[in-house]
Amino acid sequence: MSSHPIDHIAIATPSIREAAPLFELLTGHACSPVEELPEQGVRVAFIGSLELIEPLDPGSGVARFLERQGQGLHHIAFRVPDIAAELARLEAEGFRLIDREARPGAGGHRVAFLHPKSTGGVLWELVEHPVSGPR
Ligand code: ZN
Repeated sequence: MSSHPIDHIAIATPSIREAAPLFELLTGHACSPVEELPEQGVRVAFIGSLELIEPLDPGSGVARFLERQGQGLHHIAFRVPDIAAELARLEAEGFRLIDREARPGAGGHRVAFLHPKSTGGVLWELVEHPVSGPR
């Protein structure tokens, strides 16, 4: 069994600009510049360990999430040193992968998601940090 540190916790919001001041105040961190990830249909910004995600288009998964439940916790992301190996391990354990292969995520890291139906209702993200050591 491997133990992976949390990379970030993501909050879905209809507007990063409107949501950021609250989380800046809560965490004491300033909001990073906003990064657009068109292939994921979102734009993202980081405030400390929080990732704020805003849909780029109304058909995206994040837009549907916001329609269903409004702004709130969206997913938890864990750092892994080798994302392909971790996906293979999790698939062999019977977990349902949304991404069978890693895709480009925020900050240039490779990421992959697991389906919440197989992870206790939590959307689960892996973020590859190839040289990650103890933080
Ligand atoms: Zn994330």
